[in-house]
Amino acid sequence: MDFDLSEEQVMIRRMVRDFGEREIVPVIREYDRAARFPWEIIAKMGPLGLMGAPVPEAYGGMGLDYLTYAIVVEELGWADTSLRTTVSVHSSLGELSILRYGTEEQRQKYLPRLASGEIIASFSLTEPNVGSDASGMQTIAEPDGDGWILNGSKMWVTSGGICGLAIVFAQTNRSLGTKGITAFIVEPDTPGFRREEMHGKLGLRSSSTAEFVFDDCHIPGENLLGKVGDGFKIAMASLDNGRLGIAAGCVGLAQACIDASVKYARERKQFDRPIGSFQLIQDMIVQMVMETEAARFLVYRAAHLKDKGARNTRECSIAKLYASEVAKRAADRAIQIHGSYGYSDEYPVERFYRDARADTIYEGSSEIQKLIIGRHTLGLDAFV
Ligand SMILES: Cc1cc2nc3c(=O)[nH]c(=O)nc-3n(C[C@H](O)[C@H](O)[C@H](O)COP(=O)(O)OP(=O)(O)OC[C@H]3O[C@@H](n4cnc5c(N)ncnc54)[C@H](O)[C@@H]3O)c2cc1C
Repeated sequence: MDFDLSEEQVMIRRMVRDFGEREIVPVIREYDRAARFPWEIIAKMGPLGLMGAPVPEAYGGMGLDYLTYAIVVEELGWADTSLRTTVSVHSSLGELSILRYGTEEQRQKYLPRLASGEIIASFSLTEPNVGSDASGMQTIAEPDGDGWILNGSKMWVTSGGICGLAIVFAQTNRSLGTKGITAFIVEPDTPGFRREEMHGKLGLRSSSTAEFVFDDCHIPGENLLGKVGDGFKIAMASLDNGRLGIAAGCVGLAQACIDASVKYARERKQFDRPIGSFQLIQDMIVQMVMETEAARFLVYRAAHLKDKGARNTRECSIAKLYASEVAKRAADRAIQIHGSYGYSDEYPVERFYRDARADTIYEGSSEIQKLIIGRHTLGLDAFV
């Protein structure tokens, strides 16, 4: 077992950390306050390759393996979770789905534009009445000449309000259950497609989250992603990639909580001593360090399995479940260590706390991850 990162991985980590320190951390509070999408930052990430990290060079990306990609996402998560969420969905769910399931024409048409950051990808499974049980989706697609007619609605679509490409899942044959779900690529200017930004989120305020409405929306046949009936399989495989991304981002977020807490605990004095010298404060920091290190190794192991082409659903779920709960606890402790100052956006930890709360919900809640891990462990399926 080799615990060392390669020179290239160390260099890429340094590059993303530098970028985060220089271009994200100093300005992100203002984007959060204004709930404004950070197009200006995305425009700088494109030329560095950060919008196409796992996309092969032949399609304009960096061609990174999963482990190195996880390190990139970890560092983006260290800098900001809204931006990391945008990138995770864009790359893990968008680019990698098109790379794996798209036709050569689709790859050539979309991947270079996605990898450069010219357009952003979204991925929409969730509907007003459908969350954890995606198999019950109500959006339908019916054959229409050489294409399909889409009717229904989606919600909670990350980047939905600003994306240039949406991967949308719909029922094409309800009687076949999960084998009757199909994936489509939808371009936002398609007639019959409407989208509306959702407002009032607890956190992730500078990421876009939208509702989609499809009203007799005609999708050309060439925009089918994968085969008819393969949609559920595509969604589940893509979510394995997505969960790895979220888990990596959570490690970065937990690390940011540690870094902010250590700095504050060394500077802030009470009873004539830095609060970091009190054992109870050290205990909170040590818990954060221990859990974050453990989460990091779970993420790297899941990424390593992916790089080997080995099965990884269980390991991605374990990494996502553990790392998201760790990030949530770390943000909570970081606020406690900052006292009242942690309760205001003068310090970043209140944003960390709000942002971390989404990590245990999206792309399969903690409860759903437990059912997946339970199924692998017991051989008994709690979903049916
Ligand atoms: C900020 C944000 C961004 C998102 N981005 C996207 C996106 O880009 N694309 C997309 O498709 N969706 C997205 N989502 C939606 C997200 O994936 C869903 O919210 C999530 O899957 C849970 O679904 P739900 O909210 O409908 O909760 P429900 O499924 O209604 O669950 C409610 C509660 O019941 C629990 N529960 C459900 N079933 C079981 C069970 N069998 N056993 C035990 N407990 C159970 C859940 O864990 C949860 O605690 C996003 C959500 C948020 C908050």
